[in-house]
Amino acid sequence: MRGLKLATKLIGLTEGKKTTKKHLKLIEWLQKKKILRGKVKCSRCHHKMKLKKKIASVDRFEWRCQRRNCKRKKSIRHKSIFTRSKVSVFNWMKFVYRFSQGLRLRQLDFMMDNIARSSRTLSRMAKQLREVCVTAMERLRQREGQRIGGRRHFVVIDESHFRHKRKYGRGRMAGGWKRRKWVFGMLGVQSTRMQPGRRQPGQRPRGPRRRSGKPVLCLVEKRGRRELVPLIAHHVKRGSCVISDEWRAYRNALPQLGYRHFTVNHSVSYVSAETGAHTQHIERAWRSYKETVWRLRGNRTEQLLIDHLYVIEWHAWLGGKHQHGPLGRLLYDMRLKYR
Ligand SMILES: [Zn+2]
Repeated sequence: MRGLKLATKLIGLTEGKKTTKKHLKLIEWLQKKKILRGKVKCSRCHHKMKLKKKIASVDRFEWRCQRRNCKRKKSIRHKSIFTRSKVSVFNWMKFVYRFSQGLRLRQLDFMMDNIARSSRTLSRMAKQLREVCVTAMERLRQREGQRIGGRRHFVVIDESHFRHKRKYGRGRMAGGWKRRKWVFGMLGVQSTRMQPGRRQPGQRPRGPRRRSGKPVLCLVEKRGRRELVPLIAHHVKRGSCVISDEWRAYRNALPQLGYRHFTVNHSVSYVSAETGAHTQHIERAWRSYKETVWRLRGNRTEQLLIDHLYVIEWHAWLGGKHQHGPLGRLLYDMRLKYR
C-alpha cells in the first residue's frame, strides 16, 4: 500500500497521551513538512524568533522574539492552515489523515473520536480541506488543462442528476438550486485491448484491469450540443474513442472534431465488447460519486456540490497518484496553499 509509511508515522505522532514532548515532536514534524513555519521573524523588530515552551497555551509552544526589549510573541500556527482554529494540532492532523483516506466518513465518526466538539467546527475544517483540493485541481487545470483520452484510451461520457431526494416532496429546493442541473461526466479509461502480435502462444489475454479512471465532472444547465461539445473539445484529446449511449444531441459533432465515437447499443465495431465494459465503468463510477456526495450531504447548495466534485477529481487525479498516497499529496497541497 502506498503511503503506509507516512500514515504510520502520522498516526504515531497523533495517538496516545499528549505530553509536552509529544507536542514538540508533532510541531517539528509539521515544520519539516512545511505545514507549519520553521522560521519566523518578529513583526516589530525583524529579529529571529525562537520556539519556546508555553505550557498554558493549546499548542504548548510559541514563537518568542529574542531581543531583550521586545519579547514579542507569535503563535506556532502563524500563517498556516490552523491559524484561525481552536482545534488542537493533534486533532487537526487526525482529521487531515481521515480526509485523505476517502470520503466515506460521516461527521458522527469524527465526533465520536473527539476530533471536534461541534458539527460546525467539523464542517469548517472539512471546508478548509476541500478548498485545498479545489485550489490544487485549479492549478492542474491551468497547467495542463486536465485532459483525458489519447490513442489507447477510451473516454466514456454521460450525465447524471446529483440532487438530494426530498422525502415528502414538500417545500422548495434548499437555497441555490433554482434550475435543474446536470453533472456532465467524462471518464478517461485506459484501453485493455491486447496489442496485435504481442500475445505469445499459450498466453491468456489479460482481463480488464481494475483501474479507476480519471474523471472530469462539470455542472451544466442543459445537455445540448452547445453546452457539452465545447467541454468535450476542451478536455478530451483528439483521436480518442468516445463512448456514449445511443441518443445524443452532439453525436454528429464528434467525428467532425476528430473523435472516434461509439454508442453503446448498436456498435458493431471491434470494440463492442470492450465498449460495454467501459460503460459499466462509468456506471460504477457514477454510483460511487453519488454515494459520496449524498453521504456528505454535498448537494445542499450548488457551490457545495461543485466543491465536492473537485474533491472527487482530486482523489483520482492527484491523491491516488502521489508516491506517498493521498495523505502525502494532501500535505503537499496544504503546504502550497498556505505558503
Ligand atoms: Zn522583536
